[in-house]
Amino acid sequence: MNQAAVKYSIIVPMYNEEEVIEHTYERLKLVMDNTNEHYELLFVNDGSKDRTVELVSMICEFDPHVRLINFSRNFGHQIAISAGMDYAQGDAIVVIDADLQDPPEVILDMIAKWKEGYEVVYGKRLKRKGETMFKKLTAKIFYRTLRSLTNVDIPVDTGDFRLIDRKVGNVLRGLKEKNRFVRGLVSWIGFRQTMVEYEREERFAGETKYPLKKMISFAIDGITSFSYKPLKIASYVGFTLSFTSFLYLLVVIFQRLFTGSTITGWASIVAVNLLFNGIILMLLGIIGEYIGRIYDESKNRPLYIVREVQGYQENADRHAQ
Ligand code: UDP
Ligand code: MG
Repeated sequence: MNQAAVKYSIIVPMYNEEEVIEHTYERLKLVMDNTNEHYELLFVNDGSKDRTVELVSMICEFDPHVRLINFSRNFGHQIAISAGMDYAQGDAIVVIDADLQDPPEVILDMIAKWKEGYEVVYGKRLKRKGETMFKKLTAKIFYRTLRSLTNVDIPVDTGDFRLIDRKVGNVLRGLKEKNRFVRGLVSWIGFRQTMVEYEREERFAGETKYPLKKMISFAIDGITSFSYKPLKIASYVGFTLSFTSFLYLLVVIFQRLFTGSTITGWASIVAVNLLFNGIILMLLGIIGEYIGRIYDESKNRPLYIVREVQGYQENADRHAQ
C-alpha cells in the first residue's frame, strides 16, 4: 500500500482490551472499507498486561492497514491518543475508544462533515447506555464545572471520539504539555468545528479502565490545564475568612472592654481552629496541584516511550522517541 496516500488514520488507545479488540478491529474494518479510500488503523497499546498486544500483532501480520504502537508501560489514555497523532499519516485523524462504546459507523458521518469543510468534528453523546448513575452524574457535573471555570469553549458531553483535520493534528503535536487533556486542547486550538450526535453504547465487553482514581486525576488535569480560577478562589476564600475573623475580633474586644461578658467555650475554639486548619490545608493542596504540574513540565521527559512499532513496511523506527 502506498503509505503516502493514507487518507484516514483511526487511532485506538488500548489498555487491557483483550476481550474486545478483535471485534473492534472487525467493526472498524467494515466501516472503513466502505469509504473506498486508503486508511490506517493505529492501535496504541498503553502497557496492557493481558493478551492485547499478541492479538493486535497477529492482526498486523495479515492486514496491511493495521499498525501497532507498543508503549513500554502504561502512560495513560490521553498520552496514548497523543502518540497516535504523532504517528498518524492520514489527512483526517479519528480517535475512538477500543471498547465499541463509540459506534464506528458514526465515523462515516464525521467524514461527511469533514468533506463539507469542517476541521474538527466531535461526537456529542446524546445518551450513555450501560453506565452507572455515578459515572453519568460525575461526568455531568465535571463537564459543566469545567465550562464555568475556563474561558475555552469546551463543549459539554463530548469525549475524545472525534475527527480532526491534518492541520489541527499538526498544531496539536506542537503542544508539548505533559498533563494532557486532549479534548480541551482541541477546543483551544480553534478552527472550524462542528459536531455529530450519537448514542453512546454499552461497553462491548470487559470493565472500565477508568477507576475513580484515574477519573479524579483526569478531572484535575482538565481543570488545571485550562484555568487558574481555583487559585483565585483560594485567595478569595482567604480574604473573606480573614475579613470576617477580623470583624469578629472587634466584637470580642468590644465585649471584653465594655460589657464584661467573656465567652466561655473550649469546644468552639477547637472547632473553629480545626475548620480553619482544614481550609488552609485544602488551599495549599490546590496550590500544590499547580506546582506539581510545573514540576512535571520542567523535567522535560518524553511524553511516552515506545518499545516497538509494527505494521510499517519501511522506516519502522522513524518516529520512535
Ligand atoms: N485506556 C488507555 N489507557 C488507560 C486507560 C484507558 O489507553 O490507562 C483506553 C481504554 O482501553 C479505552 C479508552 O482508553 O479504549 C477509554 O477507556 P474506558 O472505556 O475504560 O473508559 P470509560 O469509557 O469507562 O470512561
Ligand atoms: Mg469506555
